[in-house]
Amino acid sequence: MPEPAITVDFVSDALEALSAYLEIPCLSPAYDADWESTGHLERAVTYLADWSRGRPIRGLSVDVHRLKGRTPILVCEVAASDPHSTGTVLLYGHFDKQPPLGTWSEGLDPFRPVLRGTRLYGRGGADDGYSIFSALLAIEAVQRAGLDHRRCVILIEGSEESASPDLDAHVDTLSDRLGDVELLICLDSGSPTYDRLWLTQSLRGNVTVTVEVDVLERGVHSGAASGVVPSSFRLLRRLIERVEDSTTGDVLVPELHAEAPSLHRARYEALAAEFGDLVGEAMPSVEGLELAGASASERLLRQAWAPAMSVVGIDGIPSVASGGNVLRPMTAVNLSFRLPPAVDGEAAARALARVLQADPPSGSRVSVRFHSPASGWICPELPQWLSEAVDDASSAAFGRPAAWTSEGGTIPFLAGLGRRFPGIAVLATGVLGPGSNAHGIDECLDLPTANNVTLAVANILASHGATRGATHAVQASEATSP
Ligand SMILES: [Zn+2]
Repeated sequence: MPEPAITVDFVSDALEALSAYLEIPCLSPAYDADWESTGHLERAVTYLADWSRGRPIRGLSVDVHRLKGRTPILVCEVAASDPHSTGTVLLYGHFDKQPPLGTWSEGLDPFRPVLRGTRLYGRGGADDGYSIFSALLAIEAVQRAGLDHRRCVILIEGSEESASPDLDAHVDTLSDRLGDVELLICLDSGSPTYDRLWLTQSLRGNVTVTVEVDVLERGVHSGAASGVVPSSFRLLRRLIERVEDSTTGDVLVPELHAEAPSLHRARYEALAAEFGDLVGEAMPSVEGLELAGASASERLLRQAWAPAMSVVGIDGIPSVASGGNVLRPMTAVNLSFRLPPAVDGEAAARALARVLQADPPSGSRVSVRFHSPASGWICPELPQWLSEAVDDASSAAFGRPAAWTSEGGTIPFLAGLGRRFPGIAVLATGVLGPGSNAHGIDECLDLPTANNVTLAVANILASHGATRGATHAVQASEATSP
């Protein structure tokens, strides 16, 4: 007898509520220091919890977990359909948002949902507001089809876009409720296309450091000081030259490098053969710009594994419109380093500190301050049943098997949860595909993809529900051991 079909209707079940969520400017704490008094995060989590409670899901309990001084986290528990089954599936997403970034295109607004064709525009829809809707609708779909699923716990956190500073404290106090986690599904990752289920094989880490160079106690007319007092900008350039080759962009600190595994390289080759220059073509480059990486696959490799520095903030320099002839007293920059997946974030920060703090150029006053380094992540190899299940799930939802790719960005908690639950299977997937513009202007959610990812997750949950899990096997052998 064929398996009963699992069906999902994301638009009917989630579009209205997701649109209402888009109206809440629930910025992550890094972008709304007064989040406790503005109350937007609280309003968002309450709204999402209320929606969750209304779903027709057997064995569902919903609560907002709060810890003093920390952003709240939405916790949904769904009992296993078979009370004798063991193991927990942990589904992860987040409800905090990035700031608007800039002015959105004509007719679009970060906090007013706009539906154009099959795309829903608004900040935080794809990154990562859809996740609670997707997670619950997937479980609901499994139940509606009359299939089994294991116990599920959904965690939707409120500090991800600030590097998840609050997640660990919540997970510490929730550990009894998480139970015996054997599968983690992260719904906050990317997809290079919208035609299949994409799984993330690696993420880069990130270290951001503020470097300040002081040369004077106050600014002095440049007619008097220049030529005698060294420019703080020039000295900062010398410091930066220690860590980055300004001709090639190569990072010069050996501890920030790591080799990609051959399996990953082979997948970049295959991706490039099928899709061409996915990375280069996605960039809004100016005419004539020379990109690094000699081939499409090398660009995929560089995006996933190259250490690279970006100057993401600057202080001590007036705007172009208002700068006058003065030798400024100081210059400070934020240097953001992306790290290869296999590099430890803390070790990278120590290496950078050693290089940047040594021998201040021209006797200037140099200060170096690091902001919570995050390690990258490499997906552990999937157990056989799961690698078959993801291909079946992708085929059921998209009509073709799943594929693996790397993300050049960072999801700090994945490395942390990997350490907390060693040996569990992890699937990181998501809807952040071409044009979704997460963190940029005009963020949008591709609704058919949201539907298909939800359907794929439902199929994976059902496949998991149909397995006799590892814990059964352990119990059986325990029962026969002396
Ligand atoms: Zn996200």
